[in-house]
Amino acid sequence: MRTITLLGATGSIGTSALDVIGRHPDRYRVHAVTAQSSVDALADLAARHDVEVAVVADASLESALRAALRTRGARAQPRAGAAALAEVAEAPEVDTVLAAIVGAAGLVPTLAAARAGKRVLLANKEAIVCAGGLLLAAIETAGGELLPVDSEHNAIHQCLAGASAAQRGQARLVLTASGGPFLKRDDLDSVTPDEACAHPNWVMGRKISVDSATLMNKGLEVIEASWLFGIAPERIDVVIHPQSVIHSMVEFPDGSVLAQLGSPDMRTPLAYALAWPERVDSGAKRLDFARLGALTFEAPDRRRFPCLGYAYDALRAGGAASAVLNAANEIAVEAFLQRRLPFTRIAPTIERVLTAYQPKAPTEIGQILEIDRTARARAQAALAAYA
Ligand code: NAD
Ligand code: MG
Repeated sequence: MRTITLLGATGSIGTSALDVIGRHPDRYRVHAVTAQSSVDALADLAARHDVEVAVVADASLESALRAALRTRGARAQPRAGAAALAEVAEAPEVDTVLAAIVGAAGLVPTLAAARAGKRVLLANKEAIVCAGGLLLAAIETAGGELLPVDSEHNAIHQCLAGASAAQRGQARLVLTASGGPFLKRDDLDSVTPDEACAHPNWVMGRKISVDSATLMNKGLEVIEASWLFGIAPERIDVVIHPQSVIHSMVEFPDGSVLAQLGSPDMRTPLAYALAWPERVDSGAKRLDFARLGALTFEAPDRRRFPCLGYAYDALRAGGAASAVLNAANEIAVEAFLQRRLPFTRIAPTIERVLTAYQPKAPTEIGQILEIDRTARARAQAALAAYA
């Protein structure tokens, strides 16, 4: 029996995880669920899954959460604020933590879970992008496990399962990317938030949907892959694969390429990470090869989608560059979603911050959070030009 805290339970990943968990009451129980501010959705989940604790990150909403839980007859204890997020991530009765908060906001509770030696199911890629070294060191020191939920990294984890350390050292990774909704669209200036969020293959939160449309999502994933698998940027490739059936591949020196395939449904990687090293039913539709038809591939257009290149640059630069890239991207994406910034100005805003702000490499979490704050302020200042 695994006992789980779900950070970001009300989101796209959180609800997919609860769907898988609900299929296996003999294997999994939920200790705590968390959300940023949606107390009604959170209380619904708390009641349905009979959890012990419900945490709302916005500290002003504790009494609203208490009322919402009472209305539903849920026995969960209401908690609020950042400290409560970290507490449920490191709670002694919990052995598994799903890190599914969006953005660098998930870093502190994810790190708390790692420091407490939990099995961390990592969806929150921004946490590893900002603080890969610290997060891996914490997992190692505390004797925990880090299992990737991001479908590409989950695929690579599966493809590397039989490889020795020496073989891993020689592997090349090929991350597949759907290309997002604008793969074939010429006029990107007039793109609206709803168009950017209408992903062809996946239903996801709005931030990652915009990241998919700019290819920044793939850029963040290159950084994530480099940390997770200890592989240098030169040995990580990206290929556009619009059908999202091959979730990523690993190439070995003899020319063999292993791929992991499946329906584009996040319940598959979630079930893998929850059950590893066993396998459980995820509820995802089986692939029907005869109906699939063609699987196609093409090179990414790095000129139209410069964010991918910025992420490689940041990874090569090391130090704080990836945290700066991530913070500037979060601000630019939020401004685009609020219609304060045109889609085509997301990349230049990020580039501006990356060029002008190159802080010393951070060695502890406080420094990373400070760099994150400064990069956000600089991105906000860069946005002022479009107000
Ligand atoms: P989402 O927007 O649907 O959900 C985000 C969750 O985090 C919600 O529960 C929200 O309440 C909570 N949250 C948001 N801001 C917060 C804050 N400041 N403090 C505390 N909690 C906060 O996002 P999502 O699509 O589920 O993505 C979650 C993470 O998983 C992201 O890092 C994303 O990149 C990653 N991911 C998502 C998918 C997907 O298919 N959705 C696939 C791969 C990776
Ligand atoms: Mg992914």
